[in-house]
Amino acid sequence: MLQQERTSHVSALSQAMAYCHRCHIVAPVERNQATQERVNRFSCPRCQSSISLRKTNSMNRAWFFVLLGFAVFIPSHVFPVMLITELASQPYEKTILSGVFTMFNDGLWVLSAVVFIASVLIPLVKLVGLAFLLLAVRYKWLKHRYRLTQLYRFIVFVGRWAMIDIFFAAIFISLNQLGVLGNIQAGYGATFFASMCIITMVAAEAFDPRFLWDHHEEGK
Ligand SMILES: [Zn+2]
Repeated sequence: MLQQERTSHVSALSQAMAYCHRCHIVAPVERNQATQERVNRFSCPRCQSSISLRKTNSMNRAWFFVLLGFAVFIPSHVFPVMLITELASQPYEKTILSGVFTMFNDGLWVLSAVVFIASVLIPLVKLVGLAFLLLAVRYKWLKHRYRLTQLYRFIVFVGRWAMIDIFFAAIFISLNQLGVLGNIQAGYGATFFASMCIITMVAAEAFDPRFLWDHHEEGK
């Protein structure tokens, strides 16, 4: 599809209309009586549900969760995710990365690659990608809106796979309870990691991809 075609479509907002997600009508946007500015949130004229032109406070919320995600990313890799006690040996701790190295050295290449991609690459791609989208909206780096929208879709899509690590940890800990392995306990790192997965998902949800398409059709 040509860039021309992608940018020629008419948005509801440019026609001063907004969509009601509850009863599915397209309603005229309300304006402030005094200033005639568009009101971001108003009641649907038909079903009285709240209609928002764009996700409320989207940019600030997305920035908050992206920065929080970066802040939690660090302890999720510094603190151990597992505390392992084997028979007749000292207990030892494993961070995600030391686990990846151990698995790689033991010849579990595929598993170590899966864990590395899910626990390091995907969270970083999500956080850096979201930060880039936020900067792109803020500084209007929007020449390649379509690519940016693809990036957003990718971020939302890969998000669910980041939890795969937690599933692995849960399996290991369950095996331990069955007495198959030594004694394994979840460490602080696992809590930070699970929090980071949730925070990045919330950040992706907070971002409103319509901002990528808005500024060239700003009608008042
Ligand atoms: Zn409605």
